[in-house]
Amino acid sequence: SVILAIESSCDETSVAICNNGKITANVIANQTIHENYGGVVPELASRVHQQNIVPVIQQALIDAKVSKKDINAIAFTRGPGLLGSLLVGVSFAKSFALALDLPLIAVNHMHAHILAHFIDDPKPSFPFLCLTVSGGHTQIVLVKDYFDMEIVGESLDDAAGEAFDKTAKILNLPYPGGPLIDLHATKGNPLAYKFPEPQIKDLNYSFSGLKTAILYFIRAQEKMNPDFIQENLNDICASVQHSIVHILLNKVKKAAKQYNIKEIAIAGGVSANTGLRKALEEKSEELGWKVFIPAFQFCTDNAAMIAIAGHYKFINQEFVGQDIAPASRMEF
Ligand code: ATP
Ligand code: MG
Ligand code: FE
Repeated sequence: SVILAIESSCDETSVAICNNGKITANVIANQTIHENYGGVVPELASRVHQQNIVPVIQQALIDAKVSKKDINAIAFTRGPGLLGSLLVGVSFAKSFALALDLPLIAVNHMHAHILAHFIDDPKPSFPFLCLTVSGGHTQIVLVKDYFDMEIVGESLDDAAGEAFDKTAKILNLPYPGGPLIDLHATKGNPLAYKFPEPQIKDLNYSFSGLKTAILYFIRAQEKMNPDFIQENLNDICASVQHSIVHILLNKVKKAAKQYNIKEIAIAGGVSANTGLRKALEEKSEELGWKVFIPAFQFCTDNAAMIAIAGHYKFINQEFVGQDIAPASRMEF
């Protein structure tokens, strides 16, 4: 089966094509317009999606060397995400399906981040644990089957990606700051500064305290040295990243023990972080885990993950009708 998939939940307009479980196109149009706002501006995002959607669809068809009449189903991100952004993708998917008389497949964006592990080999086997760390979510998920997943721990406030992006904002770095912190961190000392670890007993996370601690620390240092950030950027980034990664993996370790599972995956934009990837691999040697780390292009938002989710839903003939609407918040 040939599935065309559309992702538009945040600030990436992406279209992918999946041919019998193989990704043959994955076009991603990034939006640079948000760089100077310290975050995604929803109104601007939906407008850019509208400009990008048709050319991105056309490019995906070219890349996959298929024509519209070869498509068997249209998959799309229904949610969660920004309503205005989702509306562009969902409306396009619905009209495209109507015009071509094709079935529609609704995909949960957070399921799709995890299912990105089924794009290429090696694939994890059920049940496995997945740490999903993205711009809006931090979740430890017990994955029992393709669409049978249970959140066993999550952030009570900020997401891990937000912790990166908000720290970057404090350091005067443009949005999204996660990749930039990663870059500077490679040149710094991760033990230069120490930040407090949240004291939460269960498998949940909290990152808002860390953000505040970093803000106060920087302000205090700047009182003594106005150039503190510029002079110590690499060490600050390395230390912040080290703290976030440490917090993330501690709870994964706890979950692995509690559920007696040794297959551990990471997913979402922050899984592109080199510090996290390296620390997870070290843990795997230490604890005998089999770890699954997605290819970089499948960490941040992309339609390939929507297409692979669509592929498994197509097998189950799990379609939705034209009355489907986007859902900015969606049950997991
Ligand atoms: P959600 O999936 O929760 O709806 P989203 O789709 O906006 O949120 P993703 O695209 O999955 O999130 O991830 C974007 C986040 O990943 C941003 O916060 C970004 O800073 C972060 N990120 C991307 N690359 C890196 C990196 N190398 N290191 C740290 N963070 C990173
Ligand atoms: Mg993005
Ligand atoms: Fe995402």
